[in-house]
Amino acid sequence: MNRYVIALGSNQRHARYGSPSAILRAALAELVVQGVTVAAASPVLRSRPIGPSLREYANGAVVVEIPKEPLELLDLLQSIEYTFGRRRQGQRWRSRTLDLDIVLWNGGGWADERLTIPHAEFRKRDFVLRPAARIAPDWRDPLTGLTLKHLFTRLTRRGSPPR
Ligand code: ATP
Ligand code: CA
Ligand code: CA
Repeated sequence: MNRYVIALGSNQRHARYGSPSAILRAALAELVVQGVTVAAASPVLRSRPIGPSLREYANGAVVVEIPKEPLELLDLLQSIEYTFGRRRQGQRWRSRTLDLDIVLWNGGGWADERLTIPHAEFRKRDFVLRPAARIAPDWRDPLTGLTLKHLFTRLTRRGSPPR
């Protein structure tokens, strides 16, 4: 069984699902429908947006178990994003109804043109580390050897602006 940390984000309302936080709750339910076992789920957190979007972000993290290998999981996450109205936009960090990123995998690392695990930016992102460290504080980043708790402490101690 593969275990992953997945980051969830939304900064755009959806006609049917409603607010970003309602979208995250619905996305979590959809993961379960699709055969994912949710071992732990963070509360939904809100943070200021980055990039060109001016909207508020809702963010969260989950620890999941699923027999799927990383690329199969990415396919599933992208199909769920699509179900929630997300369309490929060519520009990163735009407004989007749903963003599902693979942050960590118990199998270690992955690197090809479609997928990088651990997620390339997660160590710098308060909105990923805060919820992830809450549900999996002792999970170690294979690249730095540091736990999520340690990475989050390091990020916030440094006094860097939230990203
Ligand atoms: P960022 O990756 O910086 O958070 P983003 O989530 O806005 O940006 P997207 O437009 O959602 O970027 O995805 C762009 C591509 O990133 C995806 O099509 C996917 O192939 C690739 N990708 C690479 N690594 C990952 C990962 N760990 N999780 C999800 N997608 C990934
Ligand atoms: Ca992302
Ligand atoms: Ca993404």
